[in-house]
Amino acid sequence: MNIPKISEKDFIMILTGAGISAESGIKTFRDSDGLWENHRVEDVATPEGFKKDPKLVWKFYKERYFQSLEVSPNLGHIALVDLENKFQDNFLLVTQNVDGLHTRAGSHRVIEMHGTLLTCFCTKCSKKYTMKEVDLEEIIPPCLACGKPLRPDIVWFGEMPYRMEEIYAALDKTTVFMSIGTSGNVYPAAYFIAQARQRGAKTIGVNLAEPENSSYIDYFFQGKAGDILPSLVNLIISN
Ligand code: NAD
Repeated sequence: MNIPKISEKDFIMILTGAGISAESGIKTFRDSDGLWENHRVEDVATPEGFKKDPKLVWKFYKERYFQSLEVSPNLGHIALVDLENKFQDNFLLVTQNVDGLHTRAGSHRVIEMHGTLLTCFCTKCSKKYTMKEVDLEEIIPPCLACGKPLRPDIVWFGEMPYRMEEIYAALDKTTVFMSIGTSGNVYPAAYFIAQARQRGAKTIGVNLAEPENSSYIDYFFQGKAGDILPSLVNLIISN
């Protein structure tokens, strides 16, 4: 494995996508012709889709939520915990995933930029709830404070991803950027690697197929994240 020289002074930013959770049994999204679990993205992952058919959207995310509780973090998620333990505050994991598996694996410095399946919030008063707090037997669970419909805490297409200021501040100091299991065509995340590289960061990619933004990758490892990350992280840690 040919990797760049990395020291404890480096700041590592990781960007993960649906691919890192594939080996846990969660389907990716681009791999199935742009459908997410047999649904069109427009129907289940846009504000317009929710307005048109909130019952369908709630059914979809309840299923995703219950599925996320049944699966477990895999060796890829776990390797990133080891990397964080080594680099501590010089480490940030930004994930596009909503399944909560990084946190369950033991990662702490995580930004879930596209939200999470584990919470929802009121469409009227914005009060936030964990899924455990709301009545999921209801077709569209109501807010316990104002009675208006709740919605999943997912950043849908056309909405602003969470914590972008923190992400851009971290990108400014990133010296090693690693992109894992993401197709490289959901923006703004797909552009982070280019921004990091423009600022002089070394870039590493781990993906089953060549991603669309592969021209920005200096060191590319093709294969499953769960196969590659344990040895890659070991190499970095002992570098
Ligand atoms: P994507 O589905 O568009 O792309 C997945 C990428 O991972 C592909 O390039 C594929 O080749 C690669 N891949 C598949 N299996 C892999 C493996 N075992 N190891 C390494 N790479 C593998 O995913 P995306 O780029 O993250 O964009 C999809 C959007 O849909 C995201 O915004 C995300 O929020 C959402 N989504 C989330 C989940 C989840 O939380 N697990 C699942 C599906 C979709």
